[in-house]
Amino acid sequence: KENKTSIFFTLFLCYTCIKLILCFPNIQSSLQSLNLQGHFTFENNEFASIDFGNQFHYLPSAVLYPKNVSDIASTIRHVWNLGPASGLTVAARGHGHSFQGQAQAAQGIVVNMESLSGQQMLQVHMGEFPYVDVSGGELWINVLKECLKYGLAPKSWTDYLHLSVGGTLSNAGISGQAFRHGPQISNVRQLQVVTGKGEVVICSEENNADLFHGVLGGLGQFGIITRARISLEPAPKMVKWIRVLYSDFSTFAKDQEYLISSKNTFDYIEGLVMINKTNLVNYWRSSFNPEDPVQASQFVSDGKTLFCLELTKNFDPHHNIDKEIKSLLSQLSYIPSTLFVTEVSYVEFLDRVHAAELKLRSKGLWDLPHPWLNLLVPKSKIQTFAQNVFGDILTNTNHGPVLVYPLNKSKWDNRTSFVTPDEDIFYLVAFLQHAVPSTTENDGLQYLLNLNKRILEYCEEANLGVKQYLPYYTTKEEWRAHFGTRWEVFVQRKLAYDPLAILAPGQRIFQKAI
Ligand code: FAD
Repeated sequence: KENKTSIFFTLFLCYTCIKLILCFPNIQSSLQSLNLQGHFTFENNEFASIDFGNQFHYLPSAVLYPKNVSDIASTIRHVWNLGPASGLTVAARGHGHSFQGQAQAAQGIVVNMESLSGQQMLQVHMGEFPYVDVSGGELWINVLKECLKYGLAPKSWTDYLHLSVGGTLSNAGISGQAFRHGPQISNVRQLQVVTGKGEVVICSEENNADLFHGVLGGLGQFGIITRARISLEPAPKMVKWIRVLYSDFSTFAKDQEYLISSKNTFDYIEGLVMINKTNLVNYWRSSFNPEDPVQASQFVSDGKTLFCLELTKNFDPHHNIDKEIKSLLSQLSYIPSTLFVTEVSYVEFLDRVHAAELKLRSKGLWDLPHPWLNLLVPKSKIQTFAQNVFGDILTNTNHGPVLVYPLNKSKWDNRTSFVTPDEDIFYLVAFLQHAVPSTTENDGLQYLLNLNKRILEYCEEANLGVKQYLPYYTTKEEWRAHFGTRWEVFVQRKLAYDPLAILAPGQRIFQKAI
């Protein structure tokens, strides 16, 4: 059945492409006739068919470089006026860091959202409840740098900051602060959105609330976020960054759950699975200090499955927090010889993945295919999941980090489009793999895709109630199952805000009617 639907989708795509190619000269001249501050390009648009996943490549007919929100609204209104028969679609492209073509539009129009960013679009507002107004195309790293000038910072992050505000708000934006502040979509006060009819709408909890909630986690289906108002807090200056190891998953998970449920706790809580890593703690020593160097040097990681708890505590350099940290750590049951600590600035900590990116780029290892798989696993099923996936299906973690950490559902707003497992605590499990071009069948792209398939099949067979994060599905039935009881609301919102299914075709949820 899945194959049949895939074949249908491919045929549909071919038909649309042929139709659009035949219409292309008309589309080009009609777009050029629009009165815009920005401009279109019709050639050399290959970049818009590439993303971080590096597996799907669909070339658009045109790329819009908007100078303001009206450029986006006029373009979408134009496509809307062409009607369903044009087959033309529009995809916002933030930083293009999707994994399966979600920000692409085959023969359609890609809106290069970064053209909308820039200093004049970034405004910090001080006061009792400070916030920043930012362009949807702004990168989080720039938001951070601007806010720090006022001693402020957003509360909730992703592990990597070179992603756009609109791109992460269309998904969720999850990192180690989310247990306390919720994901990034829980920290937005207002949005400016261009709907699939080309209307510019300001929305918030108070005004146009249905659109506001729909767009958050809405996979770009209901509108293009052109502006967002993000809550801020006083920015920490420094960070104590701690790593400890466990050999037993249930002790590791128990400690994580204890930490995310305590009032007095760390500021960031994540975890990693490490299978058969050689010389792990020695590798850490290049940037972390072991509390007991002699004991640490005797710890052997080879051949083991280990679980690394990663924590931070923010601090002001004028105040010593070592005692407080010691007291927090004393509640945990990690392997004592594996306590490693370092001290870095807040920016250095938040921008840590970029440092890794620069290293990987210099070795030509950044632009590889990335068959990432992100799952949300209910707390009641995480032990079974760990036993089967980390103990059986996954035999090593050489292809990239595997993250595991719990989140509090109470920090998520169930009026948004985002769907979570139906339990108070659920785990994010992220398989962040890269495929090395290889001659052996054990680490190529197909191998990793098969591994992901096995993990998903296992979750399905064992009926674990798992949801995908940054979901990728090929059939409507799968999307319906993903949204569950929320599917009808999702469809109603689509009919209300993008009835011709013009927006974000790369998510493959709805197809533009012809
Ligand atoms: P794009 O890939 O450009 O777009 C993603 C989707 O959103 C597309 O459907 C697009 O059409 C739509 N879209 C883009 N901009 C807008 C807009 N302004 N309005 C409406 N729709 C829009 N995610 C986490 O939650 N936590 C992490 O820690 C994390 N770490 C990551 C690390 C790396 C190295 C990478 C590559 C990704 C990571 N992600 C993480 C995933 C990331 O949040 C998503 O892939 C996100 O979509 C990327 O943002 P982008 O700006 O590149 O979006």
